[in-house]
Amino acid sequence: MKITPLIGLEVHVELETKSKMFCGCPADHFGKKPNTQTCPVCLGLPGALPVPNQKAIESCLQIGLALNCRVNSISKFDRKQYFYPDLAKGYQISQYDEPFCSEGFLVLDSGKRIGIERVHQEEDTGKLKHEIINGEKVTLVDYNRGGVPLVEIVSRPDMSSSSEAKEYLHKIHEIIRALGVSGADMEKGQMRLEPTVNVCLENETGLHYTPLVEIKNINSFNFAAQAIDFEVSRQVEEFEKSGLTKTPTNKTTRGYDSVKKVTFLQRTKEEAKDYRYFPEPDIPPFVLENEYLESLRSSLPLLPDQEIASLVSLGIEKKDAKVLISTQNRVAIERLKSFAGDTEINLQKMASLIVNGKLSALANVKADYLNLTKVGLTDRGELEKIIREIMVANPALVSAYQAGKTSLAGFFVGQTLKATHGSADAQTVNKLVTELLK
Ligand SMILES: [Zn+2]
Repeated sequence: MKITPLIGLEVHVELETKSKMFCGCPADHFGKKPNTQTCPVCLGLPGALPVPNQKAIESCLQIGLALNCRVNSISKFDRKQYFYPDLAKGYQISQYDEPFCSEGFLVLDSGKRIGIERVHQEEDTGKLKHEIINGEKVTLVDYNRGGVPLVEIVSRPDMSSSSEAKEYLHKIHEIIRALGVSGADMEKGQMRLEPTVNVCLENETGLHYTPLVEIKNINSFNFAAQAIDFEVSRQVEEFEKSGLTKTPTNKTTRGYDSVKKVTFLQRTKEEAKDYRYFPEPDIPPFVLENEYLESLRSSLPLLPDQEIASLVSLGIEKKDAKVLISTQNRVAIERLKSFAGDTEINLQKMASLIVNGKLSALANVKADYLNLTKVGLTDRGELEKIIREIMVANPALVSAYQAGKTSLAGFFVGQTLKATHGSADAQTVNKLVTELLK
């Protein structure tokens, strides 16, 4: 039986704007006193009117452009109705059939293209906190996060292994950070992951697709990969037992228990019709002019893959370039680029020294680099080479030394230190000179 996992990812990114998506409340909610950052708009009180946050929409468009999406000339917001205590309004403002961006892609290192179905804008919900107060189980709600701008990136189910999913997530994470639209800090919940998984099984009776499962709210790339792996084997086993295959209505939602490393059933999935989407009546549709989009496109920074390519073109090894990008070592990247064409510097060597923590990319990086690489401060081989050269150039002195004039060692030490511009350790040189002269 041939097994092909079909993996898609929904990624929520919380944007780092000053204010919330539709009101003037601060968007930075992390660690703030509960319910101190709310207003009639984000609480959905009667008569309050939402005003879209331009910066947030710009960030959403930038993400879409960076993911090679088509930006739709007309888009609109919709109301997604559902009743849950973390949603003060009883609906969430999101985008349904006319999102800002659609039909993009991201390329993995293997060259495989992962389709991006859409990149749309919405608002975050509040947070529920389950506690025990006076011996009673209660749920507290904090609306500070309610209304914070979110972007949802929905991929096509084009990934066929958890490692592809992980690479996809890393790339999305790096793109978001390169754009500067969010810190995408997983621990703060600024990037939340929902893999959708099913499996295509091929046996003697043909192709069979297992029912689709969406795994909710995962906050680490490793957990996402583990949940996907678990889900793939669970679905294969389930198919072997029940023979159940995918229908338009049997999609389910599961959670992931990172301690037991299993997924568990949460609920059968709401259909779009359950959400009763309709156009948000308080916000008119958007018409985006080409000129505006072109200016946004041309102001995009160099994206991670482009940045890696530009470093590689300077002679830096790809693996070092990737580390510099993933650790967001901007200072080092700029410094390295500024030395392009400097004949005293081997950029590949400099990058590798920086990546390995042997050289700091501070202001005096060039001087430090030259000192480090001149003769290899601690590099015995380099020193030996220099001492041998001095010996070859002074055969008479070598013979005199070997005939008993041991004070001549000082001459060789002095010459060596001179050749290394004083960067070599005198004691090491002393020891080596004595060894070699014998
Ligand atoms: Zn507000």
